[in-house]
Amino acid sequence: MNPRVEIIALGGTIACAPDAGAAGVAPGLTGADLVAAVPQLDALARIGARNLSNLPSTEIGLPLVFDLAAAIRAQEDGGAAGVVVTQGTDTIEETAFVLNLLHRGPMPVVVTGAMRNPFLPGADGPANLLAAVACAAAPQCRDLGVIVAFDDVIHPAAWVQKRDTASTGAFWSPAPLGWMAEGRPALYARPPRGATFDVPQDTALPFVPILKPGLSDPPLLVDACLDAGAAGLVLDLAGGGHVHSSWLDPLAAAARRVPVVFSSRTRGGRVLSRTYGQVGGEIDLLDRGLQGSGDLDALKARLVLMLALMTGAPDRLGDFTDLSCPDPETTPPRRP
Ligand code: ASP
Repeated sequence: MNPRVEIIALGGTIACAPDAGAAGVAPGLTGADLVAAVPQLDALARIGARNLSNLPSTEIGLPLVFDLAAAIRAQEDGGAAGVVVTQGTDTIEETAFVLNLLHRGPMPVVVTGAMRNPFLPGADGPANLLAAVACAAAPQCRDLGVIVAFDDVIHPAAWVQKRDTASTGAFWSPAPLGWMAEGRPALYARPPRGATFDVPQDTALPFVPILKPGLSDPPLLVDACLDAGAAGLVLDLAGGGHVHSSWLDPLAAAARRVPVVFSSRTRGGRVLSRTYGQVGGEIDLLDRGLQGSGDLDALKARLVLMLALMTGAPDRLGDFTDLSCPDPETTPPRRP
């Protein structure tokens, strides 16, 4: 018997249709509509489909992602082979990342979407959905955490970023896990399963803004954010983690009150920790009480910090910042 794969649809371009009386397209098709458009799915799995929302992905908030994680857990407990989440691409790099921080089990969870809506020539939704279901049903995709299958590339949620506004190949990660080969996932790497969070239900969301200083930007927003109740700050800084000297005193003062994390606005490579001794360099920032985000870009560092704050453990950021393979000889197992 074919494995059972549940599709949980949230909306996005993959589900868009012309909106009567309005300009452009908007989410409207259901998960069942998406499945009906891809008859080849039947050969891969017994498919269930339902909607948890039908929204543009910028309308998805963390409470919906927590509900989604609970629905995924229920599917795993109920014996599903895998779950596919379809949603708008704009926020996949955040939602898939959070799901990965919440998903403990071995069941594959595959997130996908589309860059071209179903009414455009060359719509990519059907192919992405087919690939995602193939991954969700594949035993070799178990124990990978959450993955993003898009344009026949299989990305780890821990790394993936949307890097183009319109290309069907908009998703990027420094080290994809594999590619689709004649309809099946071919994997070339297995990332270590990272630490996870157990977020208590109905925990209030902390305000954690991201600040991205440009040339000659005064540091006025640091205090403004704290005055507005920020429980943490993320700085999206130049290069390896560098900022103008005028920001140093406000940032050091902020770091005495809340966690202040710096990442790199290059969105590639690990933030530095011991290279530049210049004023406003990463060594200076660390000496002033800021923390580096390691391998995480600003969006992902912010989400880790939020979940860490929500679970009462702001010091856990360091459990999530190194995405490389641990040395089995010297590294103790990561905390669950
Ligand atoms: N605006 C859409 C969204 O909901 C874009 C997409 O799905 O590609 O994210």
